[in-house]
Amino acid sequence: MAVRSPRGEFFDALETMPPADRVKYLDNKLAAAVSYAYRHAPAVKELLDKAGVTPGDIRTVKDLEKIPVTRKSGLVEMQKARLPYGGVLAAPLEGVERVFISPGPIYEVQPSRVKWFAKSFWAAGFRKGDVVINTFTYHMSPAGILFHEAIRDCGATVVVAGTGNTDLQIQIMKDLKVTGFVGTPSFLNMVVKRAEELGHSVKKDLCIRRAWFTGEMLPPSLRKVFEEQYNIDTYQAYAVTEPGGAIAYECKQKHGMHLMDEYVTEIVDPETGKQLGPGEVGEIVTTQLLNKDWGLIRFGTGDLSSYVTEPCPCGRTAHRITGIVGRAGDAVKVRGMFIVGKQAEQAILGFGQVARYQLIVGRREHRDEMTLRLELKGNDADKARLSLDINSKFQDICRIKIDRIEFVSPGSIAEKQQGIKDERVWE
Ligand SMILES: [Zn+2]
Repeated sequence: MAVRSPRGEFFDALETMPPADRVKYLDNKLAAAVSYAYRHAPAVKELLDKAGVTPGDIRTVKDLEKIPVTRKSGLVEMQKARLPYGGVLAAPLEGVERVFISPGPIYEVQPSRVKWFAKSFWAAGFRKGDVVINTFTYHMSPAGILFHEAIRDCGATVVVAGTGNTDLQIQIMKDLKVTGFVGTPSFLNMVVKRAEELGHSVKKDLCIRRAWFTGEMLPPSLRKVFEEQYNIDTYQAYAVTEPGGAIAYECKQKHGMHLMDEYVTEIVDPETGKQLGPGEVGEIVTTQLLNKDWGLIRFGTGDLSSYVTEPCPCGRTAHRITGIVGRAGDAVKVRGMFIVGKQAEQAILGFGQVARYQLIVGRREHRDEMTLRLELKGNDADKARLSLDINSKFQDICRIKIDRIEFVSPGSIAEKQQGIKDERVWE
C-alpha cells in the first residue's frame, strides 16, 4: 500500500485516494473510533448520552454534527473535575507511555508508535542526508519530541537544539553544516538577521536549504524573503496539540494545506457546530483517528479557516485549508457568513488609494446590511470604478457583497475606528 521510497513523493497511499474512497474511508474509521471511545472513555459516553446520541447514530462525517464541540476551556474543566485525564483516556492508566502538558494545564497522552507528523515532513522533502536543527521545545509540550521523531522517520539527522540561545544556534548551524530548520517563522527570521549582524553570509556560511514551520502562520512577504533572498525552501503545517498532531500540511505547490486523512477535520459555524461548505469561513474542529486510546471527539480549535476542493497538481487528493484567518471570537457573522477583520482588511487596504476604512454592519427590515466607509489618500480616484473593484475583491475573499460604499472626507475615521463595527441591535 505504501509508496515510501527515500525518493518517493508520497508518504502513503492515503494521500492519493480517489475522493469517493476517502469519504468511505473516513466514515468507517470515524464510526469505529466513536464506538470504541464510547465503550472505553467515560467522558465520551457522558457526552453522547447527554446529547441523546448512540454510537450507532454516528456512521458518517456529517453525523458528527449531532455531537457537541469540546473546546480547550471545556477540556481544562473536564480534567480538573476528573483527574488526571478528564475521562478522555480510553485505556488503563498503567498503559500510558508518555504525557505532555499544554497550557491550562491540559494533560495529553500520546504513544510514540504513532507517526503524528512524519507525513508533513516527507511532503516538505526532508530525507536521509539532511542535518535538521529542531528549535522547538522538548519540555512539557509535545512539539520537540514529535517533530524529532518525524525528522527521523525521513531518515535525516536531528540536532536537538530546543528554543532560545540564538547566537549558539547560529554557531551550531555553521559548525554542523545544518541543512534543515524546524521552528517558527519568526525564530528563523531572528536567526538570519542575527547571523548577518555577526558578519555571516546566510547563503554562504550557513547551508540551510529547507525549513518546516508551525505554531504561527508564515506571512507571504516573509516566505518571499526566505526563499528569494536566502534560498530556503519553506513549508508549513497546521498543528493542534490536544488531539495531537499535524492536521494539515503543505505540499510543494504551497497553495493551501492538505488535510490529513488521520483526522476528521470539519469547518463549522462556531455558534451552531454545523458543518460549512467550501470557501466558507468557520472554526476548525477535529477528531483524530490515529490513537483509539484518546477519546477526544470534535475538538474545537478556535481557529478560523476555510477549505477548497479543487484538485492540487501535486497529486494529493485531500481538500486543503487555506490558512488561519483569525480566532472564533474575532469573527462577525453577516447574512450567515463569517467575516474576519484580517480578511476584510486584505480585501480593502489592498487598494493603494484607500487611506482608512470602516465596515459597518447594520440591520434593516430583518436583513443584515454592510456599509463600507472609505477615506481616500488623494482626490484623483475614479470612485465608481474603485467601488466596483473593492466590492468584487471583497466578494472573492469574504464571499459576501457590500451593500453600500460611501466616501468620507479625510480625518473622518479615527485610527482606532478602522475595522469592522457591528451596530446591529437584536430586538
Ligand atoms: Zn498539493
